[in-house]
Amino acid sequence: MNDCIFCKITDGTIPSDRVYEDEQVIVFRDIYPKAPVHLLMVPRQHVESLNDLTPAHDGLMAHMLRTLPEVARRAGLTDGYRTIINTGRGGGQEVPHLHMHILGGGRLPGF
Ligand code: 5GP
Ligand code: ZN
Repeated sequence: MNDCIFCKITDGTIPSDRVYEDEQVIVFRDIYPKAPVHLLMVPRQHVESLNDLTPAHDGLMAHMLRTLPEVARRAGLTDGYRTIINTGRGGGQEVPHLHMHILGGGRLPGF
């Protein structure tokens, strides 16, 4: 690696508006927000997509899910939030580094 944009954001080469970080993930504001609050949770480790997960990533994935409520709370999403993981071209994934969208802060369109 790498010219991966999210690796550059996690290592600080590209600046981002970080709202949370720990040893495994960082969370920052999406540059083109699709909701009043639109965050991206990104593992520090480069994994391209859900399709590339192995059992070695089980701890990381559990950590991401278990960290969500605390991140949402800190972002003021007391009323709830939506999480989205796009996978591959057919799933609308534009950045090939696994990430979870966290959206909220207003009325979201029906799904
Ligand atoms: P995807 O379509 O891959 O699921 O989502 C990628 C997201 O990353 C998009 O919502 C896009 O706005 C966001 N994004 C792309 N480049 C950057 C960047 O350089 N900085 C930030 N903060 N967000 C980015
Ligand atoms: Zn990467």
